[in-house]
Amino acid sequence: MRAFLGLGSNLGDRAYYLEGAISALVSPKIEVVALSRIYETEPWGVMDQPLYWNQVIEVETTLEPLDLLHVCQEIEHRLGRERKVHWGPRTIDLDILLYENRVVKSEELRLPHPYLEERAFVITPLREIAPKLVLPSGKSITEVSGEGKVHPLTP
Ligand code: ATP
Ligand code: CA
Ligand code: CA
Repeated sequence: MRAFLGLGSNLGDRAYYLEGAISALVSPKIEVVALSRIYETEPWGVMDQPLYWNQVIEVETTLEPLDLLHVCQEIEHRLGRERKVHWGPRTIDLDILLYENRVVKSEELRLPHPYLEERAFVITPLREIAPKLVLPSGKSITEVSGEGKVHPLTP
């Protein structure tokens, strides 16, 4: 199954956390097939915190969505994520943005990710690696842009 994951970090060595999360994902059940560039982005919701580095990756996985979420949460935990302030600073955040065209509405897991289309820090790197993607809403990735400032770190 094809899924897209969104990564974010704004505490400590942000490159280390992004790279560490991506290498930790790789296993017999998860193959990383594409990576966007890293983008430096404005914080979302809570503005008074360091800038984020965000990246989107595409994975091919045999895991069901909830099992994939649990792997993501385990990696966040290992990389020192602490849940304090909602939308507050964190070493690493790993969200499932899309899993095939699945729509899931449980409290533990919502797919597509609820704020996907509103966030430029998700849409911009997602469009970079999947320019022909059609979102579960039926919109093309080229039709949505999201809000917030984002700058790729590399040209
Ligand atoms: P946001 O969800 O707005 O990006 P956040 O990433 O800061 O905020 P977290 O504290 O990391 O929020 O996660 C809160 C809960 O969201 C998690 O416990 C998880 O069960 C739930 N969740 C629901 N849908 C998803 C999803 N698609 N990917 C990751 N977590 C999700
Ligand atoms: Ca998030
Ligand atoms: Ca999250």
